[in-house]
Amino acid sequence: MRKLLIAANWKMYKTPAESAAFLTNFFPLVKDNTTAEIVLCPAMPCLPAVVEAARDESVSVGAQNMHWLSEGAYTGETSPTMLTAIGATHVLIGHSERRQYFNETDTTVNLKLKSALVHSLIPIVCVGEHLNERERNLTADVLNLQVSVALEGIDPASLGPLVIAYEPVWAIGTGRTATPEIAEGAHKIIRARIASIAGSDVANATRILYGGSVKPDNAGKLCCLGDIDGALVGGASLDPASFAQIIANATSR
Ligand code: PEP
Repeated sequence: MRKLLIAANWKMYKTPAESAAFLTNFFPLVKDNTTAEIVLCPAMPCLPAVVEAARDESVSVGAQNMHWLSEGAYTGETSPTMLTAIGATHVLIGHSERRQYFNETDTTVNLKLKSALVHSLIPIVCVGEHLNERERNLTADVLNLQVSVALEGIDPASLGPLVIAYEPVWAIGTGRTATPEIAEGAHKIIRARIASIAGSDVANATRILYGGSVKPDNAGKLCCLGDIDGALVGGASLDPASFAQIIANATSR
């Protein structure tokens, strides 16, 4: 059984004070949750305080990005060693905004995935097609390539913690959500590709999240299908009541 995972990507929103205010309201709302693994991914300056505040809660904390090297002369970057030192447990890798605005490629995703596994960080690798690719029937090609390059050269035995987030780029921050059937179809393509690379045991254990305009009113429907193992939530995770409602609706599937 794959445990449902609901992750919040706060992007470049929330100061430390705003993060603290969120947590004060959020923790009581999810105190009875045992069904889903909950992960908050705040901006870097908020990470240490959010990790500290979540220490006695059943909520994990992850980064939105990292460099693949442990240290070095890379101004502005954060290393996996730094993340584990402050107690972060998860890391988003290859979010489409990183690919679009910061030139991340499938090759850097591969380097970061290898590094996250070596440093015992749970990687949430983001993949997804652009609208023009979907319209040209290229969704399967795009997903297969992204997954293949991401997993290149990685020992299947080390892939136990792998999480993939299917995030169609046309659904991120647009209010346009994939139907559960579209998401389920994409997740099956991803799982089949993982199986062909790393074997069916790894594929069946890999959690594949859906991301793209998940809201309280669509979370239940999206998370009710067998190949959808949770959600990566951007905009609707910024408000504690909204994010808690998404978790409640997803877990009542
Ligand atoms: C995201 O940032 O990963 C995301 C899915 O954003 P939104 O929920 O706002 O579409």
